[in-house]
Amino acid sequence: MEQPLIKDGRRVDGRAFDEMRPIRIEVGVLKRADGSCYFELGDNKVIAAVYGPRELHPRHYQDAKRAIIQYRYNMAPFSVDERKRPGPDRRSIEISKVSREALEPVIMTEFYPRTTIDIFVEVLQSDAGTRTAGINAASVALADAGIPMRGLVSAIAVGKVDGEIVLDLNAIEDNYGDADMPVAMIAKTNTITMIQMDGKMTREEIQKGLEIAKNACRKIYQMQREALISKYSEEIE
Ligand code: ADP
Repeated sequence: MEQPLIKDGRRVDGRAFDEMRPIRIEVGVLKRADGSCYFELGDNKVIAAVYGPRELHPRHYQDAKRAIIQYRYNMAPFSVDERKRPGPDRRSIEISKVSREALEPVIMTEFYPRTTIDIFVEVLQSDAGTRTAGINAASVALADAGIPMRGLVSAIAVGKVDGEIVLDLNAIEDNYGDADMPVAMIAKTNTITMIQMDGKMTREEIQKGLEIAKNACRKIYQMQREALISKYSEEIE
């Protein structure tokens, strides 16, 4: 790219290196789902719907000891610049798998043998960071569905752009930057449940990135909690 991605200590959209894009969370936006959440991260707009625990068919997929978790990440055809071909592809299958694994450690599946908990994440608009937005939404939707959890999972990406470690890359930074590292964690206990990396960073850079991601996840966790508390305190009133 001709233009520098960093100028006078600021990024292309004016953010500081350790600044996230604005976040908006709405809980319980779908009436047919057991739990749901709308999550905005800058120009990313995603919705998560949770169904279950419900009986799993076919029965040979059932686990006699626990619920199984199914996660489907899907991008709407209109969520990207050029129309995306509908249906699953390698990327969405990979994102579905890692997102499920990011959430599984907090879900008390042992309470619901032979059932399934189905999580659907629909990306309505994308600007890099959709998998982290999806995980944040899904985590809140699971809580909204009343599913017992050990904690909430929060997620954000860090990466390297023009040699600097930055938080929450947007699409331009993701496309023209040096590295992108999405992280999901249980902020309450500092437990990482997902970490991926595209590009190259040194050990020191990864450590610095993780520290920045950890602080950001703590902030996201507070926002997720507040969104849930405000929905349920309104209902009680
Ligand atoms: P994430 O959205 O989690 O950052 P990627 O790094 O794979 O995942 O994608 C970065 C961004 O690239 C997406 O948010 C989206 O804006 C864009 N993108 C991904 N897949 C496509 C596609 N098939 N067509 C156009 N843009 C895409």
